[in-house]
Amino acid sequence: MLLSTPVTDAGRAYKMYATRLEKLGITTLKDFLFHIPHRYDDFSVVSKVQELQAGEVVTVKGTLIELKNQFTRSYKKIQKAVLQDETGIVDVLWFNQQFLTKTLHVGDTVALSGRVEGDGPILTLTAPVYEQIGADGVTIHTGRLVPIYPETNGVSSKWLRRQVYKLLLTAKEELEEYLPEDVRKRHHLYDLYTALWQIHFPDNLEMAMKAKERLAFDEVFLIQLAAKERRALWKEKQKGYLLELNKFEKDIDKLWESLPFELTGAQKRTVGEIFTDFSTGKPMNRLVEGDVGSGKTIVAAIAMYVAYLNGYQSVLMAPTEILAEQHFATIKKFLEKFGVGVFLATGSKKLKVPEDTKLDILIGTHAVLSEKIAFDNLGLVVIDEQQRFGVEQRSIIREKGTNPHLLTMTATPIPRTVALTLYGDLDLSIIDEMPKGRKEIKTWLVPPQKRDGAYKWIEEKITKEHDQVFIVCPFIEESENMTTVKAAKVEFERLQKNVFPKLKLAMLHGKMKAKEKDEVLADFKAKKYDILVATPVVEVGIDIPNATIILIEAADRFGLAGLHQLRGRVGRGDKQSFCLLFTESKNAQTTTRLKSLETMHNGAALAELDLQMRGAGELYGTLQHGRRWLKIASFGDFMLIERAKEEANNVFGKLPDLPLLKQKVEEVTIKQVNPD
Ligand code: ADP
Ligand code: MG
Repeated sequence: MLLSTPVTDAGRAYKMYATRLEKLGITTLKDFLFHIPHRYDDFSVVSKVQELQAGEVVTVKGTLIELKNQFTRSYKKIQKAVLQDETGIVDVLWFNQQFLTKTLHVGDTVALSGRVEGDGPILTLTAPVYEQIGADGVTIHTGRLVPIYPETNGVSSKWLRRQVYKLLLTAKEELEEYLPEDVRKRHHLYDLYTALWQIHFPDNLEMAMKAKERLAFDEVFLIQLAAKERRALWKEKQKGYLLELNKFEKDIDKLWESLPFELTGAQKRTVGEIFTDFSTGKPMNRLVEGDVGSGKTIVAAIAMYVAYLNGYQSVLMAPTEILAEQHFATIKKFLEKFGVGVFLATGSKKLKVPEDTKLDILIGTHAVLSEKIAFDNLGLVVIDEQQRFGVEQRSIIREKGTNPHLLTMTATPIPRTVALTLYGDLDLSIIDEMPKGRKEIKTWLVPPQKRDGAYKWIEEKITKEHDQVFIVCPFIEESENMTTVKAAKVEFERLQKNVFPKLKLAMLHGKMKAKEKDEVLADFKAKKYDILVATPVVEVGIDIPNATIILIEAADRFGLAGLHQLRGRVGRGDKQSFCLLFTESKNAQTTTRLKSLETMHNGAALAELDLQMRGAGELYGTLQHGRRWLKIASFGDFMLIERAKEEANNVFGKLPDLPLLKQKVEEVTIKQVNPD
C-alpha cells in the first residue's frame, strides 16, 4: 500500500481509528512515520535470569512455564507467571490485567521488560511490558530503546509502534532520499531511511539524536524553501500597484498634523517601510507585529489613506464585529474629514453606500468576503489579527482585487527568529515601542492566602471607582484530568453567589456563538456589567478603556507571551491598570517564570523567555488557531535553524534540477495552505 494512502482507505483497522488518529495529525500512512516519539523507555539491558538484581530495569527472554489469574485477599485480580531461560526461573507479577491470560500462553517464547523487585534470593519481575518473540527473534516493545509517542484515547504507543514498524519494513522503496547528497554530507546528516528507522527504533540514544537532527533539519529546510518559493512567486511574477508618495506630500502632512498624538519611533519606522513597499511597484506582503496597544490601527489608517490618495480602495478585515466597529469608528474619525468614504460591513450591519458616494475604505468582519461585495479597484488589503483567519479567507479577500498590497497585523508576540522561520515569505515590521505616557500594567503574582483580600480590593475598585474587571479562567468545562483548573462556568457561579453577590457579572466563553459573544462584549463595554468572567477568548483585541483589572486563574497554564497578551485587555484608558495572577502550582520554577511578568512589559522579550523556558509549542498553545508549527525541530535550536536557512538559500536556485526535493517542497506548501 502506498504511503500516501489516507488512513480511511487503508483497511478496517485503520479506518476505525481514523478520527482519533487525526487528532494526532495522522491522516495518511506516511504520517505514522513522521509521528515522532517524544521519549524512549530504556529496556535495552537484556539479562539472563541468573544475573537479575533487585532494582534494575531489564529485559528477560525465555519461555512461560506458568501463567494464571489469582485473587488477592482484597479481591483484586493479579496475574502470576513464571519465566524460564537456560539459566533459571523467575516469578512474574502483573496487576489487574485479566486479558493477559488470553494473549499469552504457557509455552510461549516471550520477552519481558520491567523492574526487578524483591529482597533476598526471591526476585519478581513486576508488571513488565511483554511481547511474544516470533521466528525472526525481533522485538519492538522490549529489549531495546522503546519509542513512546504522543497518544490519544484508544491509540496507545504499543499500537502505534506496530504500525510504524510494519510501514518501515514495507515502504523502504517509497522513502526515497530527497536531500541532495552534498547537503547531507556537509551537515553530516543520516539518509532519510536510516533517520526514520533510528528515530523510531534507535540502536542507542545517540543515534536517536542524530536521526532527530536530520528530520529537524528537513523540517526547517523545507519550510524555508517553501517560503522562498511563495515569495518568489509573489515578488517576481506579480505586478503590483505603484503608489505615489511625493505627489501627495502635502496631503500626507495634513493627516500627520491632524493626529491627536505624535507617532512613536517604531510607528514611524513601520510607516516608512510600508511607503517603501508602495513605491516598488511590487505587491507588498508585510506583517506588522506589535503588542496590544502599540498603535497598529493608525499605521493601517495611514496606509489606507495613501491608497485613497492614489485613487485606490482599501479593505480592512477584523476577526469580530466589535473590533470591526471599533476600527470603523477610529478610522472614520481620522480620515473622514479629508473626504475619504469609510464604510462598514458586518454580519449584522449590511454595507450601504449611498448613490452619489464613493466607497474608499471598507471595514468589516469576514462579511467583507461575501460575493455581494465587489470593488472597482482594490489597492490595499489589511488583515487585523491575521492569525485568526484561515489562509483561505486571506486569499479570498486578496482575490477581490488584482494583486493588491497586503498588510497583515498581529499582536501575537513572536521572537524575530521564529517569525522569520515561519513567515519567511513575508516582510516583517515590529512595533516594539509603546505610545508615550502609557502606564505599565501593575502585575502581581498573588499568593493563595491573599485571594480574599484581592477580591475585597476588586470589589472596592468597582464600587468606589466604577472600574470594570476581567476574570479569566482557562477552560470552559471541568475535565477530569484538569481538576485543579477552575472551570469558567463553575467559577462564574461561585463568584456571583459567594464572592460578589452585589455586583453584576457576565460570562463569556469560546463555545458561545459569535453573535452572543459580541453582545456580551458590547454590553460590558456599555458598562452593563462590572465583571466579565471569561475563558481566553477575551484575547481578541477589544478595546474596553474602563476595564482596569484583569485577574487570571491558573496562570501557570499559559505561556508568558499568552499572559502578556491577556493582560493587554486592560490598560487601554488613562487610569492605572492591574493584572493579578493566580496559580495553584508550588513549583519554584513556575513561580519565577510568572514573576517575570511583574517586571517585564515587552511582548517580544517575554516570547523569547518563553522559548527558552518552555519551548515553542507551549508558547503558542493557547493562542494559535489552526496553524502548523514546527513538529520536530525546536525554535530554541538556533544553530540548526541557521544552518537550514543557509542551505535553503544555497539550494533554492537549483530546485528545478532536484525533482524529488521540489516535490517535497510542494507537499509542505500544500500542508501549510491547508493546515490541519
Ligand atoms: P493595537 O496595536 O493594539 O491595535 P491600537 O491601534 O488600537 O493598538 O491603539 C491603541 C490606542 O493607542 C488607541 O487609542 C490609539 O488611538 C492610541 N495611539 C496609537 N498611537 C499612539 C501614539 N503614537 N501616541 C498616543 N496614542 C496612540
Ligand atoms: Mg488592534
